Parts: sequence; structure tokens; C-alpha cells
Amino acid sequence: MRTAISGLDLRRATSVDDALRMLADEARTPIAGATDFYVALNFGTLAPRRFVDIWGIDDLRGIDVRHDVLVMGALTTYTDIIRSPLVAERLPMLIDAARQIGGPQIQNRGTIAGNVANGSPAADAVPVFAAADAVVVLRSIRQERRVPITQFYTAYRTSVMRADELIVAVEVPRVDGKQWFRKVGTRAAQAISKIVAAGVRGASPKFALGSVAPTVVRAYATERALASGTPIEQAALTLTREIAPIDDVRSTADYRGQVAQRLLRRFWSETN
Ligand SMILES: Cc1cc2nc3c(=O)[nH]c(=O)nc-3n(C[C@H](O)[C@H](O)[C@H](O)COP(=O)(O)OP(=O)(O)OC[C@H]3O[C@@H](n4cnc5c(N)ncnc54)[C@H](O)[C@@H]3O)c2cc1C
Repeated sequence: MRTAISGLDLRRATSVDDALRMLADEARTPIAGATDFYVALNFGTLAPRRFVDIWGIDDLRGIDVRHDVLVMGALTTYTDIIRSPLVAERLPMLIDAARQIGGPQIQNRGTIAGNVANGSPAADAVPVFAAADAVVVLRSIRQERRVPITQFYTAYRTSVMRADELIVAVEVPRVDGKQWFRKVGTRAAQAISKIVAAGVRGASPKFALGSVAPTVVRAYATERALASGTPIEQAALTLTREIAPIDDVRSTADYRGQVAQRLLRRFWSETN
């Protein structure tokens, strides 16, 4: 049953410090673009009751390159990404992902921090961040810390982010190699991924997958196999040992296992 809005308490933050104080002192949960929030509201699965709206905090917007690192503010939307010359130059696979996330309405409101924080193993931006060695910048009123995205998730929809922390940015170091992204869904638009993959073909190949385990997977053993010249068919077998797909409403474990191997082969042939 839909969550009753009358039972919810929402305040609007005017600055990052204002939001951080509300997280710490009033135990509020942040809302950014609200695209995942509304889904939970609609399905009645929303646990928190007290929220802070961070959408109006302009300090959390903007895409920049600092010290050769691409820095994207937490409120960077998919539309911002699609339109950004800096992202086009440094992280084109993120643009490929952004174009396939929801439709224009979702792309206008959905944010990268929301995608990361929501913690879905099917989140399309997260394999891109994992393959690009992205770092999540977390801030509380006490401190700021940087967590590699590959160490951010601890279990299904669970992460190292504390309740009093806000993601303030995602940082991506220079990516060395040819970038590749592929999403497999029921249809071309407005589909949640059955399986999603991102890769970088450089001196040391990188490959990450979504929807094949409780969290997004960075396939380190497969990467090592590829780097050492192991034939792709054998590397694909290594990949099956690194993932743990399940049967659910969108697909079967067997299908996901087979498609994961196929995506690895395509990554390798298309970036040759
Ligand atoms: C119709 C539809 C289609 C969609 N299609 C896709 C798709 O194709 N691919 C895909 O990956 N996703 C998809 N989504 C999911 C969603 O749009 C994305 O995950 C989006 O990036 C969420 O961002 P948001 O700002 O709207 O998050 P919100 O809904 O505002 O928040 C989501 C979660 O993140 C937390 N949060 C938000 N910002 C921060 C922050 N700065 N710091 C800490 N925590 C934060 C919130 O507390 C909440 O738990 C779709 C959703 C809808 C409704």
C-alpha cells in the first residue's frame, strides 16, 4: 500500500552544512531527485519518516576537472552528464549509460549520488564508476572521507555510508584505455537492467557488472586473466566464478550467467 504522505516530515536544506546538521541532529534521510524515493513511496516500502530535501543546494552541482581528476557534484543529473563536454572527453561510457537511464524526465531529475546511495545492484552508473576506479566523497559535520566505489558496498543495498553522511561528489581519475558500456534490458528505453557491464581496455583491463550479484561486481580475477593473455573463452569461465546471479522478476540466473560471458567476449572484441 502507498505510504501516506501525511505521515512524512520534510525540511529543505539551504546549504551543505545545513543539510549535514539535519542529518546529524534530526536523523533525517536525504532526498535528491526523488526518482527512487517516489518508487518506494508508491510501493509503501519507505522506512524513514523524516527527510531533508537537498535538491536546492547548488554547491552540490557542477562538473569540473581538478588535478587531472573528473569531479562531479552529488546532484549531477544524467542530463548534465549527457551535455557535458568534460564527461564526453574523459568518461564517454558514463554518457552511454546516462542516455539509457529511464527517459528524459528521469534523466532530468535522477542524480549520480542517488544512483550510488540507493545501492541497487542494477544501478547503471555504478559499473561505470567501478570500472573507472571512481571514488565516493562522503561528508559529515565531523569529517570528509573518500571511499573507492569498489569498497563502498558491503552487501545488498548496504554500504559503508553512515546515516549522518552525505555523498558530496564522485571523483574519477584519468581513465587509461578504450571505454565500453552495454546494458541489456527488456526493451531499448525505460527498462531496468537484466544485466549491465562496463569495461576499460588499457594496459590493465577493467571490467565491472551489475545485476549479477547482491552488489555491483568488479571482476578482478577475469581482469588478471585477460591481462596475462588468457584466451577469452577461458577468461569467460573465470568470470562465471566471480558472479552469483539469481532468478528474479526480470531474468533468470542461467540467462544472466550466459549473457555475462557474452558481454565479456563483446567487450574484448569491440575494444580490440
Ligand atoms: C521510471 C524510472 C526509471 C528508472 N530507470 C533507471 C535506469 O534505467 N537505470 C538506473 O540505474 N536507475 C533507474 N531508475 C532509478 C533512479 O532514477 C536512479 O537510481 C537515480 O539516479 C536516483 O537518483 P535520485 O537523485 O532521484 O535519488 P533519490 O530518489 O532522491 O534518492 C535515492 C536514495 O539515495 C539517497 N541519496 C540521494 N542523494 C544522496 C546524497 N547526496 N548523499 C547520500 N544519500 C543520498 C536517498 O537518501 C535515497 O536513499 C529509474 C527510476 C524510475 C522512477
